[in-house]
Amino acid sequence: MRRAAARTDAGMMVPVMRPHLGAEEASAVAAAVESGWVAQGPRVAAFEEAFAAQVGASHAVAVSSCTTGLHLALTVIGVGPGDEVVVPSLSFIATTNSVRYVGARPVFADVEPATGNLTAETVAAVATPATRAVLLVHQGGVPADVEAIRGFCEPRGIALIEDAACAVGSTYRGRPVGHCSPLAAWSFHPRKIVTTGEGGMVTTESAEHANRLRRLRDHGMSVSAADRHASRQPVLEEYLELGFNYRMTDIQAALGLVQLRRLPEIVRRRRELAARYHELLADVPGVVAVTDPPYGTTNYQSYWVLLDRDFPVSRNRLLQALADHGVSARRGIMAAHLEPACAGLSHGPLPVTERLTRSTVILPLFHDLTALQQDRVVDVIRSVAR
Ligand SMILES: *Cc1c(COP(=O)(O)O)cnc(C)c1O
Repeated sequence: MRRAAARTDAGMMVPVMRPHLGAEEASAVAAAVESGWVAQGPRVAAFEEAFAAQVGASHAVAVSSCTTGLHLALTVIGVGPGDEVVVPSLSFIATTNSVRYVGARPVFADVEPATGNLTAETVAAVATPATRAVLLVHQGGVPADVEAIRGFCEPRGIALIEDAACAVGSTYRGRPVGHCSPLAAWSFHPRKIVTTGEGGMVTTESAEHANRLRRLRDHGMSVSAADRHASRQPVLEEYLELGFNYRMTDIQAALGLVQLRRLPEIVRRRRELAARYHELLADVPGVVAVTDPPYGTTNYQSYWVLLDRDFPVSRNRLLQALADHGVSARRGIMAAHLEPACAGLSHGPLPVTERLTRSTVILPLFHDLTALQQDRVVDVIRSVAR
């Protein structure tokens, strides 16, 4: 009874995340449907162009998800059986899974406490002569120190791929994350900053990689549907290698084009809400909130707090208290090495990863979060901390 009463007392439930979608998105999707071209077509091409311009990349190739994008990125640089790829365990499990899809071995590196990201030092600690690539995550939108890690990788011939699933709209040294990246993969899942329902993108500086990515997402076919459509002669396609169906639809791209135009407004709003959380939580003992690193800015795709030794109750007790008051929070970022699916993967000690995954909470943060809702989240944390 108490729980039910708590939930209704302000007529308020606070979800952890809600995508920012409006009438413009709805009419853009309707226009795609009315056009009759609903699979990959002109809207996907336009979305790719707009996305490349947004992040400062030479090429952008739309795919069905960030996960499939990571699979293709590892494929185009030739990672395979016998290779090792350094990944953070502290990430959504797709990061690790993509390495397993190509038959390579994921090698877990620890992260730094402040950002939850790999560093040149944590990568160096686990690199071996078999290391072919590093899969660097910008966790929850917090940029990782790309140049420092590239400084480790380049002289050793190790490729660097960015898992930028959460990071559109974040900046690194004054430029968009992903600017001139050799290979970066992005997500448009509704839990991320801009959404297409499901969807992803791979950006690259290499025309050769871009061509191969386009072919691999489309069954390894020698001509694209758009080229065949535009041709006045019959086109006999060939299948040049083992490919996949990892395409995005024009319905999704129509949504993405509108969302991408909203990106500055979406990021501004998230940073404003994060600043308000910072203020409200500043004097709560034992709560350490994620902030911008010295070299960049986060889009606050996730707003997490670390509960340190001064916080009087366990992380799970806090999650329960929040739930009792109608607030949907989440445990912190998962650690892949603790999951049954990864039981067969050996790894060294990952103390920071384990501390972060066990002691962090992701708080509600979305475009239409009201001050009243935010106050409620903080009130619950305050009452538990007392
Ligand atoms: C969400 C996420 C993914 C997977 O993205 P999808 O588009 O859902 O496949 C991969 N890596 C990270 C770090 C993520 O947060």
